[in-house]
Amino acid sequence: MIFDDTISGEFILKVLNSFDGLTEWVSEFLKNYNIEVQADKNYTLHFCAQLINQLREKSGPLTIYKIGVETAKLYKFPLNLELNKNPHNIFSLFNQAYELNFKTHHDVQFYFYEYVNDKALIFKSQTPFSCEFEKGFFYGIFDFYFNITDYQIEHSPLWACRNLGCNYCNYIISWK
Ligand SMILES: [Zn+2]
Repeated sequence: MIFDDTISGEFILKVLNSFDGLTEWVSEFLKNYNIEVQADKNYTLHFCAQLINQLREKSGPLTIYKIGVETAKLYKFPLNLELNKNPHNIFSLFNQAYELNFKTHHDVQFYFYEYVNDKALIFKSQTPFSCEFEKGFFYGIFDFYFNITDYQIEHSPLWACRNLGCNYCNYIISWK
């Protein structure tokens, strides 16, 4: 079961505590929802997805976007990002990157990458996370690792969206 994949509480806590001014709000939120995250325990993908959905309901898409940005900064990637300044190299390795961050016992097939041209790619995601989270994640990658500010993420088609009950979101990602 993909929902049984786990990630460390330490990682979740680092993400939740990393963005300015929200730390107190988040700990209050966790208390209100009776959610306890401990650094030395592991948490399932299902737990993470629920946590993100609850935060989205309570605080809106911007919070989820910020969580995505912070997650990208802490996420492990299977390549030396100092040497690989090309977004194609990172987007084509998302399934492998997932395996570095989550403990998993199945073949990871959440992400589908397609080369369009030197400066564009198509990316489809089937994780249980929302696209606001993922857009933040992509922003984190472009900003933090590649220092590229002129880029576009087009959610296309719009109807293929997990927020609308579809099981994936599809993006056209391009940069200058
Ligand atoms: Zn979507």
